[in-house]
Amino acid sequence: MKDLLETIVEKNRKWTKYGNIATYIPGLANSDADHLGVFICDIRGEEYFAGDYDVKFTIQSISKIVSFICALIDNDFQKLSKKISVEPTADGFNSIVNLETKNGHRPLNPMINAGAIATISMVNGLTPKEKFNRVYDFMKKVTNNNHIYINNNIYYSEKTTGDRNRALAYYMKSTGIIEENIEEILNVYFKLCSIEITCKDIAYMGAVLANDGILPMSGERIITKEISKIVKAVMTTCGMYDSSGKFAVKVGLPAKSGVGGGIMAVVPKKMGIGVLGPALDESGNSIAGIKVLEDLSKELDLSIF
Ligand code: GLN
Repeated sequence: MKDLLETIVEKNRKWTKYGNIATYIPGLANSDADHLGVFICDIRGEEYFAGDYDVKFTIQSISKIVSFICALIDNDFQKLSKKISVEPTADGFNSIVNLETKNGHRPLNPMINAGAIATISMVNGLTPKEKFNRVYDFMKKVTNNNHIYINNNIYYSEKTTGDRNRALAYYMKSTGIIEENIEEILNVYFKLCSIEITCKDIAYMGAVLANDGILPMSGERIITKEISKIVKAVMTTCGMYDSSGKFAVKVGLPAKSGVGGGIMAVVPKKMGIGVLGPALDESGNSIAGIKVLEDLSKELDLSIF
């Protein structure tokens, strides 16, 4: 397996030259586009890795998975669905248009920015600090890592330039989707997106979902089977934004990307996979990261379809 991962990473390094780093968050402009790494954690806790697997990067939209899990634990699916649906989108992850024109003003799904911001408002916590800690503490559990921290440079960068997210959130306040103080909810969102992780952390997260909610290391159940099922289904249809269909055809796995260049993929009953490649395609997904997943899926016959 180690040899296979090394071969796949080296073969796909050329793809790191394509696409662009997400400079719309100025703090991300310093990321190194040459990085390419992969980490696998299987459901027995075995680990395999290659390339730049230990480079730190910000979790960005992969945090949306953790917020969604917490919101599903804190509310039932029916209640959550009144605010956020689980339908795919053909528009960009920070698109505004559907909030006005579709779906009774509900954001289409929790994997796009509007849906994730609304999801955070549904997480338990009377204060923004409590809401942040609710998701942050769960993120530590699901990554099996107590030493993950906010990158303050990226956090301030997001907070000072996040006007599109501000627009989405205030629009949702006007339609009653969010009732709380908008700046406070956005602050929680920006902080969660700015947490630094490695491929290993997201591979562990994927392994828990692959294992139907049970931590491979300790055997402790932290998510119900039902919730892991919902999360994997929504990852499959919405996790790669408006490229989720193409990704399902080419890779065939539940996955979630972030503009930091990470992708977390789940091979049900088998393993979690974390990849990093900071240069992104037009949808905001790692180009080289997808290539690595494509090859892995082919070589090991991992597609769920
Ligand atoms: N923090 C980013 C944003 O809000 C997350 C987007 C992403 O990773 N796709 O724009």
